[in-house]
Amino acid sequence: MGSEAGLLNGDPPPDGTLRFVALGGLGEIGKNMAILEVGGDAVVIDAGLMFPDQEMLGVDLVIPDITALRQRAGRLRGILLTHGHEDHIGALPYLLPELDCPVFGTPMTLGLLRNKLRRNNAAVPSERLRPVAVGEEIRLGAIRAEFVHTTHSVPDSCALVLDTPAGRVLHTGDFKLDHTPVSGPPPDLARLAEVGRLGVRLMLSDSTNAEVAGVAPSESAVGPALRRVMETAEGRVLVVTFASNIARVQQAIDLAVSSDRRCCIVGRNMLSNVDTAVALGRLTVAPGTVIGPRQLAGLADRAVCLIATGAQGEPLSALARISAGTHPFVQVRPTDTVVVSANPIPGNEEVVHRVLNRLARLGARVLIGGRDGVHASGHAGADELRFMLELIHPESFVPVHGEHRHLIRHADLATDAGLPRAAIVVADNGTVIDVDAAGIREVGRVPAGNVYVDGVSVEDVVPVVLRDRRALSQDGILIVALAVGRERGELIGGPEIVSRGFAQDARLRPLLGRARAVAREACTGGPAGSRDPVELREAMHDALAAFFLEATGRRPMILPVISEV
Ligand SMILES: [Zn+2]
Repeated sequence: MGSEAGLLNGDPPPDGTLRFVALGGLGEIGKNMAILEVGGDAVVIDAGLMFPDQEMLGVDLVIPDITALRQRAGRLRGILLTHGHEDHIGALPYLLPELDCPVFGTPMTLGLLRNKLRRNNAAVPSERLRPVAVGEEIRLGAIRAEFVHTTHSVPDSCALVLDTPAGRVLHTGDFKLDHTPVSGPPPDLARLAEVGRLGVRLMLSDSTNAEVAGVAPSESAVGPALRRVMETAEGRVLVVTFASNIARVQQAIDLAVSSDRRCCIVGRNMLSNVDTAVALGRLTVAPGTVIGPRQLAGLADRAVCLIATGAQGEPLSALARISAGTHPFVQVRPTDTVVVSANPIPGNEEVVHRVLNRLARLGARVLIGGRDGVHASGHAGADELRFMLELIHPESFVPVHGEHRHLIRHADLATDAGLPRAAIVVADNGTVIDVDAAGIREVGRVPAGNVYVDGVSVEDVVPVVLRDRRALSQDGILIVALAVGRERGELIGGPEIVSRGFAQDARLRPLLGRARAVAREACTGGPAGSRDPVELREAMHDALAAFFLEATGRRPMILPVISEV
């Protein structure tokens, strides 16, 4: 048995043991990433990012902590990507320079990754990106990997089958069982059933919609509502969806064309993804149906369909700029119909609603997601999850990809499907899980926190910076400036107190007078000349912090600035 210290040092698992650790995606929707290892070989499954919540002030995005991977660097055989969504590939521009191994995915997944790397100016040698065909076998040390076709909201999504000396693993990836997909074949249930028959020691499955009863609607279910809008709208139709939801783009183009509209793709991300999908045969566009923004000029509104990104309210997206009136060539008109063909990711609701309110204020008619039938989730509902569990009937199960309540619900579905409770582990990021012939168990923990990305560099923002930003946003800042004699430390000038974001002038003035007295007292409190500036700064800080807490109940950031003259 590996000791806790051994786990923290990244020692390999004992012979005959599969080890699984999620570095992200457990207890949260986002930054999915996991390590699977056996003997001296480790593989990474996905490497996603997460968008920050409102508490993470000034943070652009969040990626997984890869301390545990650094410890396994010599044993890392490859990164396997289930599909091309941000929460599965988005961390790679930041992590690939450090992780020295190839990246495997379907051509569409790698195409989306290439677009992403290009946008981030991340130079990755193209031979590191290895396209994989479904059914092809890849050897990664003692691990053999196979990609199995499934359906989700991006083309060529896959489940992974990993054959190892310690047993077989099935990772479903993100999926729904779409039997009437808009493009590509339905999921390869025959192969999945066969894998189940061969025997699966450990199954990992998408928990996003474990709380949603029934099954996810097919992608093609969006067609009728979208057709109605295209046919009846008096003015322009603006369809907003994810830049990677190629099937939705295909439906929008087809329905626009059949109702005598021409389409214009708005937004660089979507344009580059559409190009990739066309090049790979995943999107079919007849010549002349999709036009550039300049060709829109002569067209009547009734003949126009715009397709754009920004369904999550992303501040730099086309929709956010259109709603704010800052887009270079799309201005909202009162006759426009905006179709938001997505549901907000949990946590994003407020930002999305702000954008929708701005559109409504400008007079546009707004149709939204599942409510108006213009969106179908890409994630399996409870019945599909249970079906998948029964199809695979694994020896052990770890629900992944979900907030804690989703994981718990998915574990319940597994017991409904006949799995003993002891065969299921509901884990957190960093929980080390070992599986062998004797069963599944938690054996310890490794670091698996958040790494904050601010601007373009990783680890710009450490937790203390975030704490400071929170303090500033809540209680403001006070700068106390004073001059003391270099020789004896006596007060020569000040203290002057400047505040920002703390209180309004009328309330502040009497308070600042008293604060100056407190500061002066802190200055002269000790024996003259015995205080060095560091000590003085601390004494000043503590005296003022105590004063303001007492007087106002608040904890502004206090910065004493002491100059010696
Ligand atoms: Zn996904």
